[in-house]
Amino acid sequence: MSQVIEHPLLCRRCILPETFPGIKFDGQGVCNHCRREEKNADKLLGKKVSYRKKLDELIAECRDKAPSYDVIMAFSGGKDSSYTMKLLKEIYGLKILALTFDNHFISPTSLENIANLTDRLDIDHINFTMPWPVAKEFFACAAKEDIFPLPTLLRASAICTACIGIVKSLVLKTALEMNIPLVAFGWSPGQAPIQSAIMKTNPMLTKKNQAAFRNGFPEDIGQRLEQYLIPDLYYELYAERFPYNIHPLAFFEYNEDNIKVELMAAGWQAPEDTDTNSSNCLLNAYANQCHLERHGFHPYVWEIANMVRQGVMDRDEGIEKIYAPQNAEMVEYAETQFKVQSSTFKVQS
Ligand SMILES: [Zn+2]
Repeated sequence: MSQVIEHPLLCRRCILPETFPGIKFDGQGVCNHCRREEKNADKLLGKKVSYRKKLDELIAECRDKAPSYDVIMAFSGGKDSSYTMKLLKEIYGLKILALTFDNHFISPTSLENIANLTDRLDIDHINFTMPWPVAKEFFACAAKEDIFPLPTLLRASAICTACIGIVKSLVLKTALEMNIPLVAFGWSPGQAPIQSAIMKTNPMLTKKNQAAFRNGFPEDIGQRLEQYLIPDLYYELYAERFPYNIHPLAFFEYNEDNIKVELMAAGWQAPEDTDTNSSNCLLNAYANQCHLERHGFHPYVWEIANMVRQGVMDRDEGIEKIYAPQNAEMVEYAETQFKVQSSTFKVQS
């Protein structure tokens, strides 16, 4: 076990620190988020059952009516999206199109995992990448500037949020163009609430979110990002095609060790080349480090605290994941990549 940094004060039930914005502790050292969730804990199991039923019904409704694929999977090659994809294939037998956004930092093991799993599960796969000079400016900007509002940054680092913004947009754009009725994500039960686990996408809300995403970046970068976003024309042209977003891990049984065992049986290997919070990305340690230095709390602490509170992760394991120092070599690796000379991209006029 690597060394754990002593933190002055953590919630005694979950692992949120005193540096987490807006947190309050009561006399027993338990945080306001834990107290609020106490009231919902009993209902969670019932909700999981009803969401599973809802997914079964939705899939029965969509299946085979889709002209091409039943579902497009936002597939990073990490354990959660790999496992979600496996569930959708093995439990429901869906026709899946997997899409990976290669952000230039996918670990070599993860690239093998992506190839092995799509082959084994017989899944068509798109690997999408943007030129390195563009990716470099995009991520370097997310690392330095205030692009996203604080409520977003309570749940993820700016670099992760930027990357996921592109992923969400690419899968939605592809779903609209190919008339795919479902878009699947591998959010862990701590990452996204069960209430959003099955939700029809709304054109107007999407349009608003896309504009906010684009406008957070300086004009030249925002303009270059437009080709990854939903063209205005689509909101009317494909108004009837807006798909359902699903993230089934909110209501399927979730146990990290069991997930890894099942995935390994399907040709997936646990990467040893990534940090403790990612099983696919070599940029994550740097993203975490930037966030820690800037905001004083770990960008994964919200997700992990939720899982500890829900009892799907052991508290000590959560503390180890969050309060162990970032791997200095990995932080340096990403930093070095950003320093590598490359021709600065120019927006084409
Ligand atoms: Zn707490």
